[in-house]
Amino acid sequence: LIWNGDMSVAKREGLYCSLVFTCCCSHEIKINTSKQCLNTSKRDINVRSVIGANFAGIGHQGLVKLCAILNVPLPIDDDHFFDTLDYLLPTFESYKLRSMKNAVEEACKKSNGRKITVSGDGTWQKRGFSSLHGVVEVLSNGPTAKVLDLERLSKKCSICTGLLSIKYSDPKKYSEIKNKHQCEVNHVGSSASMEVAGIHRLFARSKMLYNVKYAQ
Ligand SMILES: [Zn+2]
Ligand SMILES: [Zn+2]
Repeated sequence: LIWNGDMSVAKREGLYCSLVFTCCCSHEIKINTSKQCLNTSKRDINVRSVIGANFAGIGHQGLVKLCAILNVPLPIDDDHFFDTLDYLLPTFESYKLRSMKNAVEEACKKSNGRKITVSGDGTWQKRGFSSLHGVVEVLSNGPTAKVLDLERLSKKCSICTGLLSIKYSDPKKYSEIKNKHQCEVNHVGSSASMEVAGIHRLFARSKMLYNVKYAQ
C-alpha cells in the first residue's frame, strides 16, 4: 500500500520542527518533534541542546559546529541560547546547593562528626596566572571526592568594563548604572593570590553555611 500524500515542515525553531502530513483526501496529521517545556514557549530539544553545550564546554559556537557536522538543522540563535541559559540558571543554582549540602552530610557520616577532612583546588579560566576569573573549591576526601563548596573569583566585571564606553559621554548614566549594578569583582590583588584568598573564604564560612569544620 502506497501512502498518497504530502509531507511538509510547518514550523522550525532550532532543532525542533513541526511536520504536517497531508493526505490526498486533504486530511492533515501534525507531528511535533519535541514537546513544549511546561509554562514556557521553549522546546525540550532546544533546552537540552543548551544544557548539553554547556556541560560539554563548547558553548553556542561549538553547538553550531556540531549541528553542521551532524547534518541537522542549526540550533537556536545565540540570543535564544543565552535566554535559555538565564532561564535555566536558578534551577541549576538550587540543584548545585542541594548537591553540595548532600555531599557535606555524606562526608560527616563518614568521619563520624562535623569535622571533615577536605582538600582544596583551583581552576583558572585561562591558563597561567594572568587569568581574570577563577574558581576555587573544597572537596571531600576519598576515592569519590565531591565538591562541598565553591567560589568564583573575579578581578574584572563585564558591566564595569562595558560602562567605560559611556564614562565621559554620559557621566550621569555611567554613575547611575555603576552604583546600581551588582559588581562581579570580588578579588583584588594578583591572580596568583586568588586561590589562597578563595580557599580562605570557603574555610571561613563552613561553620555558618554547613555547621562543619574543615581540616586539611
Ligand atoms: Zn486520506
Ligand atoms: Zn562591576
